[in-house]
Amino acid sequence: MNPPLTESFWTEDRPRSDQLAAGSDLPADCDVAIVGSGITGLAAARRFVAAGKSVVVLDSLELVGGASAVNGGMVIYGLKASAESVFANFAPGLAQEFWDASMRAIDVVEEVASGIECDFSRSGSLELGYNERDVGLLQKEQAWHRQATGLDLKFHSGGNIRSVIGSDRFSAALTEPNSAGVHPAKYTFGLAEQLMEASASLVPHAAVESIEHSGRGFSIRTRRGTVVARQVLVATNGYTENLVPGLRRGVIPIGSYSAVTEPLPPELAERLIPGNRMAWTARRFLNYFRRTPDNRILMGGRQNLSPDLDLLKSGQDLGRRIVEFFPELEDVPITHVWNGRLAATFDLMPHIGTIDGIWYTLGYGGHGLGLGTYLGDEVARLMVGEIHRSPFAEIEHPHRWYYRSRPWFLPAAAAGYRILDRFSR
Ligand SMILES: Cc1cc2nc3c(=O)[nH]c(=O)nc-3n(C[C@H](O)[C@H](O)[C@H](O)COP(=O)(O)OP(=O)(O)OC[C@H]3O[C@@H](n4cnc5c(N)ncnc54)[C@H](O)[C@@H]3O)c2cc1C
Repeated sequence: MNPPLTESFWTEDRPRSDQLAAGSDLPADCDVAIVGSGITGLAAARRFVAAGKSVVVLDSLELVGGASAVNGGMVIYGLKASAESVFANFAPGLAQEFWDASMRAIDVVEEVASGIECDFSRSGSLELGYNERDVGLLQKEQAWHRQATGLDLKFHSGGNIRSVIGSDRFSAALTEPNSAGVHPAKYTFGLAEQLMEASASLVPHAAVESIEHSGRGFSIRTRRGTVVARQVLVATNGYTENLVPGLRRGVIPIGSYSAVTEPLPPELAERLIPGNRMAWTARRFLNYFRRTPDNRILMGGRQNLSPDLDLLKSGQDLGRRIVEFFPELEDVPITHVWNGRLAATFDLMPHIGTIDGIWYTLGYGGHGLGLGTYLGDEVARLMVGEIHRSPFAEIEHPHRWYYRSRPWFLPAAAAGYRILDRFSR
């Protein structure tokens, strides 16, 4: 078998248009400058444009060159922090707002996607357990949600499980109807193209090197020149470095890896993942998987938390996982393997904040497609004064004394997670 391509299936399937590849020239000034052209930056830009502001979106890479076009395309309810922990750790009113935001995020993606050809579909989600212990845990989770959030989770086990997953590997499952799938490159490239047509400036290969106060705003020096802006938003998530002093202390870049098979016959793909629900395993080191619009199986996950693992090795690991779940795919080749960076925070919550007048929003864990769209929009509404508060700006953004910018503790954290996962198998 040929080795897989080490590039994203999504961006090969939907490449950047010439307009997007070229991007805009850097203007001399604007109302708002956004650092980072992922879904957070784009969703914010959309809101600024609607509010009549002139916007410049700057990226060090190609436009949408971070995680946003290459992720699993799964728009899932909830936050990285479990709903149970959110309701246990925050005041009931705040916890409810966080929960509502996570559900509303799916609606906001649907709203944005409605103007873009991007295969958006409310196909629902599927959480899978492996063993007897998981049967109890998933039942408990269903009961907890029924009482605390009202989420419409359905429990499946025994003979019934085959109606939701074409595999004998799993002991139990929870399904819910709200989550959605989207083609992430079509979604984000389509939005970026809309913004360029609406005269936002989207500037690729313009790494921001410094942001300094100047007059009533900021002077932003990039690799392509300087732009002056009244307001600045930093939306760099898993690619955050030391541009804004102190910001990196609250954000930990984590690697995530995906692989896809060749397209399967549609009947086979439907038998393996009926209804194309967005699936994940009930583990700390979870796998997420789904069908692509052309009926490949996309499998995602990671061997540890590093963003720099070998791609071909990761492709083999993910391929083995596909065969473990679906043995009949043993001879089906993996065609693409790729990775990107997401961002974790110490409380597993996303945060909106300001440092020295510079706004930021980041820290979505693996939920950034929905939450990045939602918080990008929300932070822009705060910045233009359309709203005056956000729950994500009201909680402390935690730091740890032992972390400045090098996440030396990740291997130990990964080993701990593995042990916890092994004991729950
Ligand atoms: C393989 C993979 C699978 C995933 N699957 C899912 C999923 O199925 N569902 C989901 O909800 N989430 C998923 N995620 C997470 C999700 O993709 C991210 O949370 C989301 O894309 C974050 O969007 P963002 O716009 O905040 O950041 P990004 O899209 O990462 O964009 C940040 C940008 O900032 C730019 N930047 C950084 N520093 C500078 C600078 N100094 N100057 C200029 N530009 C700069 C970077 O170049 C980058 O383009 C996945 C992530 C990965 C990697």
